[in-house]
Amino acid sequence: MDADLLRIRDDALLALESCQDEANLEAFRVRVFGKKGELTSVLRSLGSLPPEQRRVVGEQANQLKELLESQLTARRARLQDEQRAQSVAAERIDITEPGVRRLRGSQHPLLQTLDETIAIFTAMGFEVARGPDIEDDYHNFAALNIPADHPAREMQDTFFVGPEMVLRTHTSPVQIRVMESRQPPIQIIVPGMVYRNDAPDQTHSPVFCQLEGLMVGKDICFAHLKGVLTAFIHSMFGPDLPVRFRPSYFPFTEPSAEVDMGCPVCGGNGAGCTRCKGTGWVEILGSGMVHPNVFRAVGYDPEVYSGFAFGMGIDRIALRRYEVDDIRLFYENDLRFLRQFS
Ligand SMILES: [Zn+2]
Repeated sequence: MDADLLRIRDDALLALESCQDEANLEAFRVRVFGKKGELTSVLRSLGSLPPEQRRVVGEQANQLKELLESQLTARRARLQDEQRAQSVAAERIDITEPGVRRLRGSQHPLLQTLDETIAIFTAMGFEVARGPDIEDDYHNFAALNIPADHPAREMQDTFFVGPEMVLRTHTSPVQIRVMESRQPPIQIIVPGMVYRNDAPDQTHSPVFCQLEGLMVGKDICFAHLKGVLTAFIHSMFGPDLPVRFRPSYFPFTEPSAEVDMGCPVCGGNGAGCTRCKGTGWVEILGSGMVHPNVFRAVGYDPEVYSGFAFGMGIDRIALRRYEVDDIRLFYENDLRFLRQFS
């Protein structure tokens, strides 16, 4: 073979082996077959050779051209195969690998209990009313038959936020606001946070969730109160639980009653039960017939209208319902506790 062609062949075959991608291959193609390529130059210069030599070198040059073209095509195919194999390996999915566990949030147990409580009362025709957390003295106390010198103010340790302004100690001021703004019949429940200056312990929290109810109309009597609250307890805790009404005192109701239900832990038996302290009963809410003075404060005639009211701590309902024994757990947001309710 012609010495030039031999050199071109050896160089080209070596260069081709070191091509690693399409850009290398293209550079190689230009270098050998381009307008000013090495092999192109040889082919162009054939015209200046004597005829006999031209035929020989021409034939060799064409053979070399075919060889290098086929080597280039083969090299390109091999590189493509390698690339495909690499990307297949990189994208390989191991279907036996354990999945990534997604953490799901869940509703707080107090909110779950509140939602269910609201659902039970709205099914009985109650509508939800709401009011401000910061209340004036009149709506929180005076209008609810708790005048300034009334000893009942001592029953509720109050956070004062300004002259005559308090963080509401109960949701009852919303009753007053609703009755001030419309005429009977009224059938509302009032969920909301309330605030008392209590040191936190197993059964007390300075902020807790209350739900209050009020039904006012003509001829509303204690039997309605008993019926509504018994239906609630049976829906929330079970249809067979005994319910009892104990005489009590609240300034804004007369007569007033604490409502107990049979202890769900011991089934009302009591013996050795720490939850009900051996009595077989647990206290669940307070209630009573609306005091005539409350009606007078909002301009209702107590000779025409009557009604009942009740209030419960949603925290206490949740404690009973989930058999939790410390109210503080609901407010500490320890995920180990909260995840049990998801
Ligand atoms: Zn018990």
